[in-house]
This record gives sequence, C-alpha cells and structure tokens, in this order.
Amino acid sequence: MSGSQVIGFLFCQRHQLAKQTIRYTPHAWVVPTPDCYEHQSASGLVLKQQFHQYILDTYLRSRNLDVVHVHTHFGDEPPTFSPIDDRHEAEYARFLAFCYRQKPRLISGVFNESLEKSEFRLWDRKGIEHQQISFCNSWFAPINTTTVPEETESIFTRQQVFGTAVQQQLGQLKVALIGCGGIGAVFAEQLARLGVKNWILVDPDRLETTNLNRMPAATHKMVDQRWQKTNYVKWLIKKVYTIGSHVQALPLSVEDEEAKRTIATADLIVVATDNHRSRQVAQELALEYARPLVCLGTHIEIKPDRDSRPRLYCRVTVPPLGGNWCLMCGNMINLQQAALESAPTEITDLAAKAGYIDGIDAPAVYWLNSICASQGVGIIHGMVSGFFDLDAGLDWIYDFANLNWLKTDTSHLHSSDCYFCADDISHLSDGRYKPPRSAQVSPPQEKIAFSSDVMEQTNAANSFVV
Ligand SMILES: [Zn+2]
Ligand SMILES: [Zn+2]
Repeated sequence: MSGSQVIGFLFCQRHQLAKQTIRYTPHAWVVPTPDCYEHQSASGLVLKQQFHQYILDTYLRSRNLDVVHVHTHFGDEPPTFSPIDDRHEAEYARFLAFCYRQKPRLISGVFNESLEKSEFRLWDRKGIEHQQISFCNSWFAPINTTTVPEETESIFTRQQVFGTAVQQQLGQLKVALIGCGGIGAVFAEQLARLGVKNWILVDPDRLETTNLNRMPAATHKMVDQRWQKTNYVKWLIKKVYTIGSHVQALPLSVEDEEAKRTIATADLIVVATDNHRSRQVAQELALEYARPLVCLGTHIEIKPDRDSRPRLYCRVTVPPLGGNWCLMCGNMINLQQAALESAPTEITDLAAKAGYIDGIDAPAVYWLNSICASQGVGIIHGMVSGFFDLDAGLDWIYDFANLNWLKTDTSHLHSSDCYFCADDISHLSDGRYKPPRSAQVSPPQEKIAFSSDVMEQTNAANSFVV
C-alpha cells in the first residue's frame, strides 16, 4: 500500500494497578481494509462512518475498552506527531468523550514507515492536553516507580556479569506465586535470592508434618503453630531481605475474588500447585490481564511390578502471551479434572471413589521439586535478561530416569479456535499492510503503563508502554 498512510485501532482494557499507575491491556487489533475507507491517499484518511461506528460500538460501548489509534508516517526518521495529527486527535478525543458515557480515553500512536520507531501519547477527555508515554516490547519490563538507578547491592556481586539493568529489573519485578507447597517454596527461595523482592503469595493451606521433608528450613514448631504456607514462604523471602522487599501473603484460594484481583496486578504469574483447577484459573487470569505465566509441576509414577524403574518427571510450561496456545488447548491440564476439582465436596468424594481424581497426595520428593523450581527460576532469569525468546512459548519435560529434557515442538500446539486463548484480532487487514510486529504477532502482549504525576514532569523515561 505504498503511497498512502495506514491506520489501525488497538482496543485495550484499562486496569488500574495503583493510585497512579494504569496498565492498558490490548484485547483487539483492527486494521481496516481499503474498502473501509471513504477516502485514502497521501493527504489523509477518512473511514466510512458506518464502519467506524461499528468498531467503536463493538469495542467501546459493548466491551468497555479504551482505544489506541495508530497511524504511520512516511520515512524512516523517528516519527513525531504533526499539527494535523494534533487537530484530528483533539477532535477525536472530544468526540469519544461526547459519544460514550463510560468516557474512553484516547491514546494515539505514530509509527515510521518500517514500524520500528514510534511515539505514543494519552489525551485528556477535553482534547486539550496530552501526556507522552513511551513504548517498549518486553514482556517483562515491570511498572517502574523509580528512575534513580540503584547501585547493585553487594549480595549480588557474583551476578554482576548479567548486568546492572537485569538486577534492577529483577528487583522491581512483581511475581504472583500461586501454590506455596513443595515446588512453590523452593522456587520462591531461589527467585528471591536471584533478586526478586516483590511478591504476592497465594495458598489456602497450612504447613503439615508431611510437608517438612520438602520445605526448606521449615520446622516441626511451625507445623505445631499451624503456620499458613503463605506466611512460611514470606518468612523465607524475608530471610533474604530484612528490608526492601514487599511480600503480600494471601491465605486464600486462587478462586477468591480478592486473590484474583491482586494476582492481576503482578508482572508475572507463576503457578506451582498440584491440581488442574488452580492452573486453569491461573491461565485464565494470565490471558485476561496479558501477564506472562510460568507453570511448574512434577510427576512420579511407580509401576506395581517391582522390577520396573520408577519414572520421575518435572515439567515447566510457559504459554505464549499472544495466545497461540495455552495450558488448556495444549493439553497441559485436563479440563474434566479441573471441573471435578472445583465441584462441591460430595461430588469430589463420589468421583474419588469412582477413581476419577488423581493428584491428591501425589508422590513428591524434594530433589525433583528442586530441579523443577530451579528450571523455572532459570527460565525467568533468561526471560528478564533477554537471553530467552519466549514468543512461541515453551514446554519442557525432564524425564529423570532417562536423563533427558524433552522439548515440546510448540509449533504443533498452535490452536486458532481455543475457547480460552483464540486471539481476538479482527482480521480486517487486506493482507498487504502488516501492522506493527508487536501488535500483530501477539496482540495482548504489551501493556501500556504510565504514572500520571510523573508524566506531568514530562519525564518519558518513567512511563512506558510495554
Ligand atoms: Zn500523522
Ligand atoms: Zn488455548
């Protein structure tokens, strides 16, 4: 489509993380085809009114999303908004405020021709002022609340080789851990010692004697005092950081609304439970709020005949954020099992008698849990450092008896009609125009975050689109 501009709409869910921090999660990407335009030329673009009304009603009125209006400028220079853009966008911001009661905010973006450079801004509803927000493509850049680069703490001297920036990013990353049992506890202990200080811990259970062979530094006294597992893991993390860490312990089920709300504010969700239902909820939350998800689990199988070797596995799964596949369509969890697990106790008991539920008091050993937890921590380190590209997702199974890491070919997992993760891209593109890579490949991948009072100081470095 050379010789003319292109535009696209990204519809985002607004998610207030804190008083002054909002994350916009893209849910739909619309690229109009030429027949959607009244008029399309180098001088400007006018969408057919009917089409325009249709997309706004669909995404703004019915789904309560905010709109990011994106267009391109010619050339390879870093693009800047033109006076014409200013005028049109101011009008558009007023139009949106006038037409829609829920008052969607207009975010606008301009890309250069190669779609490699961009600039974004957020308009007020009166169409008078706008705040600049910057944009980056990392899944992992946490919502930054400080610009002052801290010195790398001396406890991390031996990790300096990975770079100060990585250490700082780890220090700012907020991790929600669902499941503070045998795998979760080891995982938290290790990731905390790598440098992660901000945690949300979710687990409704208390420590029991049968946990003591797998929970680092847990004691009989803690069991006698009926410690919540979340408090125990909090204690583990606080042993690393007497100051400077923030740990929220939520002794709740992952299905609890407060737990869900809190998990959604994390930068990364990790699920390390032994049941299908909680993994399903974790995956649903990850998809809804476009959060990266890391799923950890082990499996031990002993055949009744005494001669065969036990089979021990651990599995680390990271579904892609773009929604190409998920734990459900990738068959990492069993939905029937999940449904049984969320059923009332009487039904669960009946099902258990009939042999339909496994995973209850499943066999577990500390060393296998540790392999699994370490692998998960390593993958997160790689994701944050950028030495792992996880766009396609990852599913690794360690087959201990055969000393083999099996890597699922994730290209076989792609599912275009999954009830849970099928992408919500409106394919209105004519196929010639490629929308920005980040948006096209994985639309719910970026978050747009800004801190409004910081931006009033026009410090773009403090506010970003991830
Ligand atoms: Zn422009
Ligand atoms: Zn799926």
